[in-house]
Amino acid sequence: MGSITELGCLEFEQIFQSTTNGIRIIDRDYNVVKVNKAYCNLFGISENNAIGKKCYESIGTSMCQTTDCPLNVILNGENHAEYDMEININNGTKINYKSSVHPIYDSDGEIIGIIEDIRDTIEYMRVVDELKIRESVLASSINAIAVADLEGRLTYVNRSFLNMWECDIGEAFSKPITDYWQMGNSASEALEYLIKKGKWISEGIIERKDQSLSNIQILASMVIDENDNPICIVTSFMDITELRRIKESKIRAQTALAIAKPNIDTIKSIMDAVVIAIAITDLDGKITRHNKGFVETFGPYPNAIGKSLNDFISENDIADVIERMNDCINNGHSSSIECAGVAQNGRKIELLIDLTPMKDSRDNLTGIIVVIRDITEQKLAVETQKHLSNELMHKNKELEELIRIVSHDLRSPLVNIQGFSNELANSCNQIKSIINEKSEVSDIIGRILPILNDDISDMLKYILVSVSKIDSLLSGLLKISRLGRAILNINEINMNELMSNVVYTFEFQIKQAEINLEVGDLPICYGDENQINQVFSNLLSNAIKYLDPNKEKKIIISGWEEGGHVKYSVEDNGIGIAPEYQEKIFDMFYRLNPTATVGDGLGLNIIRKVIERHNGKIWVKSEQGKGSKFFISLPKGRSLESANIASLIANA
Ligand code: ADP
Repeated sequence: MGSITELGCLEFEQIFQSTTNGIRIIDRDYNVVKVNKAYCNLFGISENNAIGKKCYESIGTSMCQTTDCPLNVILNGENHAEYDMEININNGTKINYKSSVHPIYDSDGEIIGIIEDIRDTIEYMRVVDELKIRESVLASSINAIAVADLEGRLTYVNRSFLNMWECDIGEAFSKPITDYWQMGNSASEALEYLIKKGKWISEGIIERKDQSLSNIQILASMVIDENDNPICIVTSFMDITELRRIKESKIRAQTALAIAKPNIDTIKSIMDAVVIAIAITDLDGKITRHNKGFVETFGPYPNAIGKSLNDFISENDIADVIERMNDCINNGHSSSIECAGVAQNGRKIELLIDLTPMKDSRDNLTGIIVVIRDITEQKLAVETQKHLSNELMHKNKELEELIRIVSHDLRSPLVNIQGFSNELANSCNQIKSIINEKSEVSDIIGRILPILNDDISDMLKYILVSVSKIDSLLSGLLKISRLGRAILNINEINMNELMSNVVYTFEFQIKQAEINLEVGDLPICYGDENQINQVFSNLLSNAIKYLDPNKEKKIIISGWEEGGHVKYSVEDNGIGIAPEYQEKIFDMFYRLNPTATVGDGLGLNIIRKVIERHNGKIWVKSEQGKGSKFFISLPKGRSLESANIASLIANA
């Protein structure tokens, strides 16, 4: 058997030392007999420290001195052994190496040792690890990934692929990758394009088993080696359903925003273009925005923004408006309310306010949209219309009264005149026939004189009474007709002043009849001063006229405010009026006891007409034998102007 130390020649030595793999030669007794430089570099030891040592001493592994020892494997007849090792070297670093062992034969073919070719496998292991990582990344990717060979046969699919296509691995591999590209007849062109260009991207739709549709993005890329030769095709499929939905809703939102943006300006101009006032309040009822109409309605209020809506509402109506606003904010209810507003110049405005909850895109309440309409004119028109229909009603009633007067009151004196005229004609005929008898003059005179003195004189007296009755009826009618046509001159009236003037004109009668007259403090009212003066003159005149002569006489005049009205009363403790006549006494020429007192039965009728033209009311509370109390109610404030308009219309 030859010795392993005989190994060597110059060429061998050069090759031995220049190789980049670490090489060591070991004899049959495990002695390291030769190592190259690469070996020393690989393990960080000197040649002297390696040579002469047992192989398991210099670099020991778990296989050393076992049957797995490569030397033993070779001695046992194998002509090649290979193993992977991880060695802890002196400086603490770990080295992975791959060892390839071959036998060394002598010239007789006997094994004299082994030659071990050791490669550093750190890079190799790193690549393997990286591949492992990449594979696990592929496997765990949420994108479906398929690898196919250049013929399109699938060689790998990950779990997401199976989930996406709802199949098992067998089904997945049964189809070529081109089928998954969803390109139908164009699949071969896509493959050609891929080979030429290296990658393409497209989109498709998968119909799932539950019939829902998923949008997918397909990215196919060609994998090439370092020499640019194609190796395989990798296709990744990404479910973009949700992404597309988000994108679409984003586009929709952007489009909506793009549309909404000009709309905000449009809404502002519309808000400003409308005549009605619009304000927007926050949840505390503070105005955050208003339009030009708001300024036109309320006037140029300084700093209207930030003010409470209540600042524009009349004190009496604030509570109602607050209640509606709370209902709007707390319960989301829309509502309308009629109320009085106050303009910047203090003018009272009749308003119709619509309150609507304002919500943001997420349906959260953000404030109130307040639409305000100035209905002053409208209300005036309604009042005027009401007034006109009242007027019409009263005119009809008057007409009926007029017919009654013409058919009854005027007729009876006419019938009297007719009757007495006939009588008069008879008496004249009687006188004529006495004269025609050609009797003695003294006899004629004696018979004519009683006719002239008694009959004719009485008849003429009755005729004259009837004529004056007709005259008084006609002048009464004229008075009422004039009153109806007179234009009202509405002004604020100081009623205390007016009443003291009225009382002054009756002072003599009051003193003479020893009447105890009390006049309270009277609130102001709006009206035609002359006509209101006539009203209270008539009432005081009646109160004096219909007092009970057998009682201590008392008259009380009072006044007060109640709601939106001013009220006055004239109370006496006179003869009173039975309930059944308490309405009739206001009719024209109606008198309860015509012979007991002087009068034309027009006083109360005139009062009622005047008061109604002032949009007011008159009524009486009375008890026969105890006294009467006449009440007058007039609207507070200037709404009486409608009566002016009404009277102008009525008399146009
Ligand atoms: P006149 O007093 O001229 O009769 P009015 O129209 O003023 O006419 O009154 C109508 C009728 O109403 C009177 O005739 C009278 O019968 C009754 N009347 C009016 N005022 C009173 C009063 N204060 N007390 C009792 N009766 C009254």
